Amino acid sequence: MTALDHIDAWIFDLDNTLYSGDARFFAQIDKKMTAFISDFLDVPPTEARVLQKQYLVEYGTSLSGLMAVHDMDPAAFLHHVHDIDLGMLTPDPSLRQGIEALPGRKFIFTNGSRLHAKNVGEYLGLYDLFDGVFAIEDTDYVPKPKHAPYEQFINAFDIDPARAFMAEDSVRNLEVPKSMGMSTLLITSDIDWSHEPKASRPHDGKNVPDFVDMHTSDLPAWLLALP
Ligand SMILES: [Mg+2]
Repeated sequence: MTALDHIDAWIFDLDNTLYSGDARFFAQIDKKMTAFISDFLDVPPTEARVLQKQYLVEYGTSLSGLMAVHDMDPAAFLHHVHDIDLGMLTPDPSLRQGIEALPGRKFIFTNGSRLHAKNVGEYLGLYDLFDGVFAIEDTDYVPKPKHAPYEQFINAFDIDPARAFMAEDSVRNLEVPKSMGMSTLLITSDIDWSHEPKASRPHDGKNVPDFVDMHTSDLPAWLLALP
């Protein structure tokens, strides 16, 4: 276990990190994106889906690609794709307990919208534990893993990366934080995510790269085991 005594800022991704990677829950967002893109570009859903995943890999998020290539207005897209049934998620009191016990400030840093972070965070009974939330509107819609949003984030909250920790399910989003000096925790998933492009799917925990300091498939248990 990497020593974490020096950490005073605990940063968490939202989707598939603060709830256990339930493929069915994220599939709702995924399907809504496909429908929106199909409608917006006036292409069949199969073609929309190819573009959706291509942009996800090339631009960090599908949204970012749609804005860059098709000059799309982000607001309607975000509103549409995050209007989902939260009932598939299960609040976990042990996760709340684990986050609450962390010494220092806590943050959510998500490629989703502010409203999505609030809706999901409140539904999970975690939202009030966080000192700040940084969402895609706060980065001019530039997503992780691009470098700029990480800089904006640490500047916005006056975070010293050498004393920061970041937890993420998307392995590529941990490379920049590690290069900045953060300690990194990868949340792995036992679920079959092979329907997602390799670059963006949650990691299975095998052959983790060097910029990953620690990994777990059970964030609540991992947090509660901290000294
Ligand atoms: Mg995630």
